[in-house]
Amino acid sequence: MSLELFSLTGKRALITGSSRGIGLALARGLGEAGASIVLNARNDAPLAAAEEHLRDQGIVATRHACDVTDPDAVDLMVDLIETHEGPIDILVNNAGMQHRAPLEDFPRATFNELMRLNVNAAFYAGQAVARHMIGRRAGKIINICSLMTFLARKSITPYTASKGAMAAMTRGMATDWAPSGLNVNGIAPGYFKTELNEALWSDPKFSAWLEERTPMRRWGELDELIGAAIYLASDASRFVNGQVITVDGGISASV
Ligand code: NAP
Repeated sequence: MSLELFSLTGKRALITGSSRGIGLALARGLGEAGASIVLNARNDAPLAAAEEHLRDQGIVATRHACDVTDPDAVDLMVDLIETHEGPIDILVNNAGMQHRAPLEDFPRATFNELMRLNVNAAFYAGQAVARHMIGRRAGKIINICSLMTFLARKSITPYTASKGAMAAMTRGMATDWAPSGLNVNGIAPGYFKTELNEALWSDPKFSAWLEERTPMRRWGELDELIGAAIYLASDASRFVNGQVITVDGGISASV
């Protein structure tokens, strides 16, 4: 009975940046919990492969290739889904990028590109889906934050700033939209092996440092992010708003 609280049957979830990595893992997890999945990324070929991968597992999946830093493209994608597929009940703002450089030399154009994806895109997609969700007085938005929401690391200050902004925006969206029946929360992943941080997991020195630094003594497995996503996407979290759940093996709890 109480497990029904976690069911996503009959729900539709749009996950940005879901052709690989964390986005694809969350797409599979939410799909296995019963949601229909709408995949998104810029490049269509990997997106089509991801769609097939989900369908092979019995998950109802469609795809919309678009650049979420383009507000017109985001509005069009959301309108197309709402008109031709059905209501978007869950939005996961996941698309994000990283760039590492000494702060004093960090290219300003890259700073702007990073902010456009890691912050602006979540605002565009949040706004576009909220306009529909508010009318229905229901909707779940999950913003993917980071361990860097809380802690800094040398050479990634723009990313750190963007993930701090993502948590602040989560609280702001909850404040604005909770009165209209929406839940807006975040997930802050620790370290997971994806393309975004290949420079880290392919470096044995970094891996050894991370394993020593993390109370659980290892990297995260992508599947370990699914539980938090199902919780925040489902009725189980209906009185939870503006919060960020950290999934990091204890690293942020420990010096
Ligand atoms: P990833 O493997 O690099 O995947 C990024 C995804 O976003 C890809 O599907 C990519 O596909 C898509 N994407 C990139 N730019 C886009 C754009 N402009 N419009 C639409 N889609 C776009 O990254 P990840 O590690 O899974 O990271 C996902 C999220 O988790 C990010 O927000 C990241 O900051 C966060 N995070 C990751 C970690 C970690 O350990 N990996 C830790 C904390 C937080 P295309 O290139 O085809 O567009």
